[in-house]
Amino acid sequence: MDSMLYASTNRQAPAVKLAEALLRGQAPDKGLYLPVEIPRFAPGELASLYDKSYPEIAAAVLEKFTAGTFATNELLEMCRSAYVFDVPLERVDAQRHVMRLDRGPTASFKDFAGLMMGRMFGTLRRNAAGGRLVILTATSGDTGSAIANAFYKIPNVEVMILFPPAEVSARQRKQMTTLGENITAVGVEGKFDDCQALVKQAFADETLRGIELTSANSINIGRLLPQIVYYVYAAARLTKGEKPIVFSVPSGNFGNMMGALLASRMGLPLEKLVVATNENDEVPRFMETAEYHKIVPSLACLSNAMNVGHPSNFARVIALFDGWLDETGVMRRKPDMERMSRELWATGVTDAETRETIQKTWREHQLLLEPHGAVGWLGLERYLRETSSTATAVSVETAHPAKFPEEIEKLLGFSPEVPPSLAALGTKSEHYLTMPGDYGAFHKLLLDTYK
Ligand SMILES: *Cc1c(COP(=O)(O)O)cnc(C)c1O
Repeated sequence: MDSMLYASTNRQAPAVKLAEALLRGQAPDKGLYLPVEIPRFAPGELASLYDKSYPEIAAAVLEKFTAGTFATNELLEMCRSAYVFDVPLERVDAQRHVMRLDRGPTASFKDFAGLMMGRMFGTLRRNAAGGRLVILTATSGDTGSAIANAFYKIPNVEVMILFPPAEVSARQRKQMTTLGENITAVGVEGKFDDCQALVKQAFADETLRGIELTSANSINIGRLLPQIVYYVYAAARLTKGEKPIVFSVPSGNFGNMMGALLASRMGLPLEKLVVATNENDEVPRFMETAEYHKIVPSLACLSNAMNVGHPSNFARVIALFDGWLDETGVMRRKPDMERMSRELWATGVTDAETRETIQKTWREHQLLLEPHGAVGWLGLERYLRETSSTATAVSVETAHPAKFPEEIEKLLGFSPEVPPSLAALGTKSEHYLTMPGDYGAFHKLLLDTYK
């Protein structure tokens, strides 16, 4: 099979093969890689996935994007070793379901991408016998811990994670700072957006050429591809891919919803993709007004992993609708708004509404949601109410409720049961560096650590 090519959303850099897109992270023109052509499901293929295991479905979907880079059995082995946990599809009523993506090692949906990326990088390094690779990542909480756990002890790979200490929970911090080995955690004085700006600047910095830097943030195409899989899995399990389905995705940097959008372009019969944000609602506003305005600084909401005022992946969304959003947030060409509203339905949810939703779903359905999942659920309810849709509907729960014990305790009067992966954290000791949010300090740290 020919290997697929990946092109930049800024269209100023050559299209590259998967291995190069993975290792670069961001394209040299500062755009984001997307497959030049999106592969399609064969007729009957979705139905045939109905009774396959999650790793088998993952291999079937990913093979379409990775052929020529990873051998078929190599890929299946990677999927089998990554996805060793359940992916529950909890039925709420005849129409509505919650897909829980919280059973991985860090109890966040980011494990799905992280575990697969760790294996992809490890396999590329093994096959190419290269030197040490340094993965740089900025996190508002969950990315960093998922990446740290995904790359932990992978040979020839070092990881540096930048995080805003004031914006992450103690548990999120411990997931990054208790590993050691090839994982370095750095607390940056500032917000998530400052961490992300530092990482972006390092990638563009010619004076760091001596260090082989790459990204594992949601800008890396390797983070997106595994996020297509669970949408395919849910549609295959619930409808054999034969009936329209609605997904609601609580969104921050818009990587998760991109997975659903790509699945739809592959031929999954999506009735609508509901995109629910917290009060950082620049995208719902854009859908309403066709005017894009970043929110700077981003607002600190309860669903803290979604506190993003200018989502990196929105450039990819815009590109899939024939527009061009550059890396600074300027809309160089308007997308096809009509097609966008046909496929996407966006809504913003306040913190007060998030709290009410956690209480209401528990009271009415014994459905336990944490703040991110509650944003997604309310988005779905709003969509179903407004459209009277009867399609099978799935709201995505992106974190385990036990990651937000104080909030759940306050709202529901009990503490959620802690999964074993999180329970082990309490006893481990933490190590992390601290740094002002300025590029000079970061530049020096990188040289001191890896040169
Ligand atoms: C990262 C994250 C999100 C947002 O996902 P994006 O891909 O950035 O839109 C939502 N919920 C949780 C728990 C997360 O960690």
